[in-house]
Amino acid sequence: MDRATGPQQIKVVTRILRANDQVANENRQRFAEAGVYVIDLIGSPGAGKTALLEATISRLAPEISAAVIVGDIATTSDAQRIAPLGVPVVQIITESFGGACHLEAHAVKEALNQLDLEALDLLFIENVGNLVCPAEFDLGQHARIPLLSLAEGEDKPIKYPLAFRTADLVILTKMDLCPHLPIDLDVLRKNLWQVNPHVGCIETSAQTGAGLEKWLDWIGRTLSRSQDQAATPSPTKGTTPVVAQHQEGSHSH
Ligand code: MG
Ligand code: ZN
Repeated sequence: MDRATGPQQIKVVTRILRANDQVANENRQRFAEAGVYVIDLIGSPGAGKTALLEATISRLAPEISAAVIVGDIATTSDAQRIAPLGVPVVQIITESFGGACHLEAHAVKEALNQLDLEALDLLFIENVGNLVCPAEFDLGQHARIPLLSLAEGEDKPIKYPLAFRTADLVILTKMDLCPHLPIDLDVLRKNLWQVNPHVGCIETSAQTGAGLEKWLDWIGRTLSRSQDQAATPSPTKGTTPVVAQHQEGSHSH
């Protein structure tokens, strides 16, 4: 039995990831048909994902029609923060999906049944607070954006390289805390660009509103580029999915 434990575990994990990628591709297809751009926000608990969404959502209307899927292990408290902003919000409680510490594609697929995708331009997925395994699971998103708060320290990009290597943009949060923290922003940026040399990095504070204009510009440019691509028929039509690098057995919990 002991000898069988290792290989069996690896087989199970591999099968889960393969099934996940299949459903992620289905999700991607649904997003393409509905013409909705999907952003997966990942980051540690307390990185400021919900706070960024609160600050962002109110500035998108009426030009951009958005909705939010929120993943948490327990409680609907994040969804309750988003709901007053007047956008559709679906809370996934991951305990019931058996993958408590990250979102998987099938949980997102279930959540999509609660949304009128055709009516949306932009869908945010706030992943479960965790800088590790959310980076391993493709949800069918177009962009994955890790948030990193200044309080977490400048070493995080090199300690959690997958989250930052697979990033399409990185958002630094809580910049208002900078004067109070022993953090070297140059070292942080150097660490980030060591794992993802060309990734964009926007410095924000949901408290002061700093950097939000840049972030909204990024959203606006990215959405119009994506709509242009969808409208232009060409043999190479379709975006290249950002697929997280799965390592067999790397997700063993
Ligand atoms: Mg949150
Ligand atoms: Zn996990």
